[in-house]
Amino acid sequence: MEKDNRKRYEIECPECGKILWACKSLFQEMGMLDAGHGSCMECGTFLNLTLDKENDRMIAIRFEEYKEKKLKERAAK
Ligand SMILES: [Zn+2]
Repeated sequence: MEKDNRKRYEIECPECGKILWACKSLFQEMGMLDAGHGSCMECGTFLNLTLDKENDRMIAIRFEEYKEKKLKERAAK
């Protein structure tokens, strides 16, 4: 089996504070920085993961929050 050399990002669950690890998704590799998602292993909250390219870190927010933010952004245009 090939070794997985991809960088892993430490993220904190916004719901329960559990430290989780995530890799960049394929879409994030392609430049869609907010195209990551996953569930917290501890509390099961569905999270959106956004790559902060400048600081090279991953930011996790609740998916519901992300969705609302996106809707607002769209409405503002
Ligand atoms: Zn959690």
